[in-house]
Amino acid sequence: MNRSLPPELPADAPPLPDAHARTPAELFAQLASSDVGLSATEAYRRRIRWGENRLPANPPTPAWRRWVRQFHNLFIYVLLTSALISSLIQHWVDAGVIMAVVLINATIGFIQEGKAEAALRSILRLSKNQCLVMRDGQSFTLDSQLLVPGDVVALQAGDRVPADMRLFYNKSLRCDEAMLTGESQPTEKSVDAVSLDTPLAERSTMAYMGTMVTFGTARGLVTHTGNRTQIGQISELVQHVALPETPLQRQLAQLARQLTLVILLVTAATAVFGFLVRDYSLAAMFQGAIGIAVAAIPEGLPAIVTITLAMGVERMARKHALVRRLPAVEVLGAVDVICSDKTGTLTANAMTARLLVTSTARFTISGEGYAPIGDIQHHHGRSPNEDEQQQLNTACGIALSCNDANVTEDDGDWNIHGDPTEAALHVLALKQGLNAADHARHRPRLDTLPFETEKRYMASLHQMANGTREIAIKGAPDQLLHLCRYQWGPRGIEPLNKHYWEAEVNFLTNQGMRVLALANKAAADNASQLHHDQVTAGGLVMVALVGISDPPRAEAVAAIAQCQQAGIRVLMITGDNPTTAAVIGRELGLAADRVVTGAELDQVAAQDLPALAEKVSIFARTSPANKLQLVQALQAHRHALAMTGDGVNDAPALRQADIGIAMGQKGTDAARDAAAFVLTDDNFATIVGAVAEGRRIHDNIVKSIVFILPTSLAEASVILLAILFGWLLPITPAQILWVNMITAVTLTLALAFEPPEANLMQRPPRPRHQGLLTPRLLYRVMLVGGIGAATIFLLFRWHLQRTGDIELARCVAVNALVCFEAFYLLTARSLHDAIWHRRYWAGSGPALLSIALVAVMQLAFTYWPLSQEVFSLAPLAPAHWLILVAATSPILLLVELEKAWLRHAHRRWSLHQPGVPGHVHF
Ligand code: ATP
Repeated sequence: MNRSLPPELPADAPPLPDAHARTPAELFAQLASSDVGLSATEAYRRRIRWGENRLPANPPTPAWRRWVRQFHNLFIYVLLTSALISSLIQHWVDAGVIMAVVLINATIGFIQEGKAEAALRSILRLSKNQCLVMRDGQSFTLDSQLLVPGDVVALQAGDRVPADMRLFYNKSLRCDEAMLTGESQPTEKSVDAVSLDTPLAERSTMAYMGTMVTFGTARGLVTHTGNRTQIGQISELVQHVALPETPLQRQLAQLARQLTLVILLVTAATAVFGFLVRDYSLAAMFQGAIGIAVAAIPEGLPAIVTITLAMGVERMARKHALVRRLPAVEVLGAVDVICSDKTGTLTANAMTARLLVTSTARFTISGEGYAPIGDIQHHHGRSPNEDEQQQLNTACGIALSCNDANVTEDDGDWNIHGDPTEAALHVLALKQGLNAADHARHRPRLDTLPFETEKRYMASLHQMANGTREIAIKGAPDQLLHLCRYQWGPRGIEPLNKHYWEAEVNFLTNQGMRVLALANKAAADNASQLHHDQVTAGGLVMVALVGISDPPRAEAVAAIAQCQQAGIRVLMITGDNPTTAAVIGRELGLAADRVVTGAELDQVAAQDLPALAEKVSIFARTSPANKLQLVQALQAHRHALAMTGDGVNDAPALRQADIGIAMGQKGTDAARDAAAFVLTDDNFATIVGAVAEGRRIHDNIVKSIVFILPTSLAEASVILLAILFGWLLPITPAQILWVNMITAVTLTLALAFEPPEANLMQRPPRPRHQGLLTPRLLYRVMLVGGIGAATIFLLFRWHLQRTGDIELARCVAVNALVCFEAFYLLTARSLHDAIWHRRYWAGSGPALLSIALVAVMQLAFTYWPLSQEVFSLAPLAPAHWLILVAATSPILLLVELEKAWLRHAHRRWSLHQPGVPGHVHF
């Protein structure tokens, strides 16, 4: 075909509005390409000239709009109304400070939201799509952004189509085009040109960017990229970042509404009571009412939750877990079952073929990793004889032909392209001395049936040098033995000795090896297409078994042990052989005494499945449908479960699981789309790390609430009591607002940075439907709030009586409030750990720094003449500070005593509960 190029490319790619109606040959000519693709240099020229294959990103929300959005919050409305009323009654200081609080809060929200959005955006960038492209006659994986018109791309089930393309080879391709055409049924594709006026939804010769391949394989010629694609023309469909509201945020919004209602009712009732019964002036009443409202409103709370979530998401991304659905982060902390694939997740995916078994002998293969350095020896340690060499050549020929993987050397490192199992077989053939290029030339591949989890084999049709055609097949031994009737012996084809092969499979699987069988069969001389019934009919010839080692990941062993301590069950659900799964499971530390296969699962009645799923930890030879069955069975027992998956058919299970986790490296785009998380390193240990992070996020949010609510309660009740009893206000609204303002940016924020608790992964998961505040924590909120209010009140009354100086007494009261909060923060850093342990102080930097900052600001507040005037304060003497510390520090001891008592009570209780780890459940 024509590959000559004009010296200068036109400024724009050819428009090709009729690509669907033209023949592939015409399009190849027009795009100066061919079925072996462009050259790398030509592709580069086209990219420079015609741009990247990227959809225009939505313009980011303008900063001013994000800023204004911060004010759209019920708490803020109440505060703004309070500021308005304060200015109407000419309390300018109150109004000014309320406005300052509102502005500071909005600024924190603005900055943090910007950071969270940036984090999510970078995560989207990280999870960009890749595709299999053909350039210079070689196929390799490429970032889809680098595609240009004229590129040749291979599609297979699970792929997201990376650009608009005209198909020129098709093997039952079906695409889900709902996003483009609204058609919910997948569309069948073909290579025959359709008429020019065919509507978009019926252009079966085209695959469109962004649609999903649900079945089959195909190859296409890229006709349009970037915003020239169909999807690029529909501007609303382009990807944009939005921060969805999580259940926790919804719960908090509801709490805010309820709290605001209560606050407004209490405020109104108190104002009426004060005005009618206590004879306060209207202005004083308004001032008091506003004081209660602003004191009781935990306006910092929404920002804290967003910050904690955003920081957690960022931390997880750094540890290779990309969050695709924010709400899932909150469920992470409650996960009590993790269902994981074996290959590549629990194992290292570092595949090396170690043993090869023919119908007469076993052979050992030397060498490590993917370097094709090593040789094949008879297992008695001698070189193979001539007959054996021939058998080995036949076996390795199948391993090389029926294979889409490749290995390349880069500075002494051997890199693989394609599936690791296939790469191991490719390397095996190279060790036998076969040459991949020669092999491809002498027995060109005419057609392929790619590996499918359900069928468990791959087959390819070849034109042989002697003019005949042959089918090469590799797959799971149980599947192939079922299809074989013959075997390849030293003297050619002979009847199959099934017992021999079964015993050899057992021998290999008992060593934890992944076993593949290699078989072949003659095809009709005119066969040009391959179908499954051609493979299954008439009997195959068994040639060899290959035992591939794939050791468990060292970090997975540690992570499983950690899960066991953390009360999380780990289930291995694999497509591999039951014996291999049991051996690897045992090495990983899983209960491997019973392995249930997919076929057995299919026989179990639906009502018995939940009980079975509780008992068995290893499921082998499973299908994607079995995964869905298991998810539903476990959910019937109210488990919160995380499930991994990679294939297109895993998508339903990933969607059904509480947390669907897709593999970033070996997973399909379909699985990634369905998942809440994507692991960029495909590593089981990363899941456990993410669960730990989820627990930490939940802890920190609970800690923030348990810190903020008592302080709001103390502030509000001080004013409330004063009005009810007709006493002077111990703290004025302006002073309370000052405290809120400085603590919101210091003390409260510090809790979002708290490191994980020491026993984070030694305690059982939190019950899934447990609310944020358990009765026990609610009790602590009331206790601390009550003590805080009483302390402030007593200090105020005492100083007022002794000195008669209201400004001094109020100065003492405000500082008492701040000291109280600072001491309480020290103990609020952990919900149950004791402050006197050394490890308690690890990671206390942010909390201590925030206390130091508050101290500086409080000193300025107390001694700066301008502040004294604005807030009506009298300076404190050193003795006052001593009294303040002495009066407010006991809260620390008190909460610590409460924690100790709870720890003790729980320990006593758990002694009588076998199997319950000694942990206080908050
Ligand atoms: P997991 O589900 O834990 O990732 P797995 O990768 O072993 O396990 P499958 O991919 O379903 O599960 O593979 C099942 C079996 O199919 C394997 O045990 C192997 O014998 C065979 N097999 C795997 N990959 C290929 C392949 N590329 N070509 C042919 N057969 C394969």
